Amino acid sequence: MIEKLGINYHDLKTKNRSLILKLLATGKCNSRIELAKESGLTKMSVSNIISDFISMGLVEESHVEETHGVGRSPIILDINKNGPKVVGLHIGREGCSVALYDLKLNKLNSTYGELSDKTKDGLVALIIGLIDEIIDKNSVIAIGIGTIGPLDLENGVILNPPNFFGITNIHIVDILRERYKIPVYMDSQYNNAALAEKYYGNGKDYDDFIFLGITSGIGSGIILNGELMKNSSMLTSEVGHTSIDFRGNYCDCGNRGCLETYASSNVIRNRLVLETEKENTFEEFCTMTEDPRIDRVFMEMMEYLSYGLVSCINLFNPQIIMLGDRGVFLPDRYLDYLESQINKYKLSKSYNYVKVVRPMFGEQAQLAGSAVCVLEQIFQGNLLINRE
Ligand SMILES: [Zn+2]
Repeated sequence: MIEKLGINYHDLKTKNRSLILKLLATGKCNSRIELAKESGLTKMSVSNIISDFISMGLVEESHVEETHGVGRSPIILDINKNGPKVVGLHIGREGCSVALYDLKLNKLNSTYGELSDKTKDGLVALIIGLIDEIIDKNSVIAIGIGTIGPLDLENGVILNPPNFFGITNIHIVDILRERYKIPVYMDSQYNNAALAEKYYGNGKDYDDFIFLGITSGIGSGIILNGELMKNSSMLTSEVGHTSIDFRGNYCDCGNRGCLETYASSNVIRNRLVLETEKENTFEEFCTMTEDPRIDRVFMEMMEYLSYGLVSCINLFNPQIIMLGDRGVFLPDRYLDYLESQINKYKLSKSYNYVKVVRPMFGEQAQLAGSAVCVLEQIFQGNLLINRE
């Protein structure tokens, strides 16, 4: 990828417009005055951009806030409810979810389908069926995909996910682009989830955090300096393959002692089934922690997570850790215990207390994130919304 060094007038204009739209969509500002203050643009520039957005049907003047006779009442701006929409698609191991979102990430409609035909054609047919059910061709401007990996992001291909019934090499971006004739973007499910939380959720007030998705594996999305951590490799961060014991469990990746071989929800669930002889799900076991046998396994899970996370915290110095996917079902006291452990063992002990929180979108963070995969392109000025 060749980075342009210069910035011309057209780029600058695009950048300013994208910034204004981002500030409105993410709820950071809702008046021209606030937008000028926050963006550093002149009131005149902001007014011009807003007039244009209103004429394009992107933004509306919603209502006038009463100021009880003191000064002029500011006009409140909002994203137009009849404006552009995006489709978010989440591809998981058991099934796929599709939802329709507006630019404020309000979910307007959604659907889910289980993967019953466990072949590549079955998967593609399922996805297309779900999107057809949800898509409004007049208002949807793009489709965002959040998916299990590994991924070839350059070419929009899902490569060879482990435990995915042998389904490999799915050129999903091309398939959807050809069918729907609109832009399609893709990223890993936890990169997307991290961005959703950064723009709209519990990561709003933080510039540095790690979203840890706990499921059959452990995945991650890292926000650094307010942006998703990405580099020229186009690969995703893989906190689940941080080794916590070089003589430990063998991992599918070829390494030993990988965090996910100790603390994924599947590993923990299987241990709990053996321990209790009850065939419950991970979520169900999360509601049974007064049983000391179950409590002990969850406490050990937190120990393992804390070892892996301390290494990551020493590398990135995040402000918070967000436990997502199946991790949202863990009762508070385990999050509190994990928080106390990581703060006890990280290097910068007395500075930078690291909180452990849940995502605001809960287990929906990956689906919401798939829509944010598109919104990010709009906010960065890469996807322009044209006039009708
Ligand atoms: Zn591994």
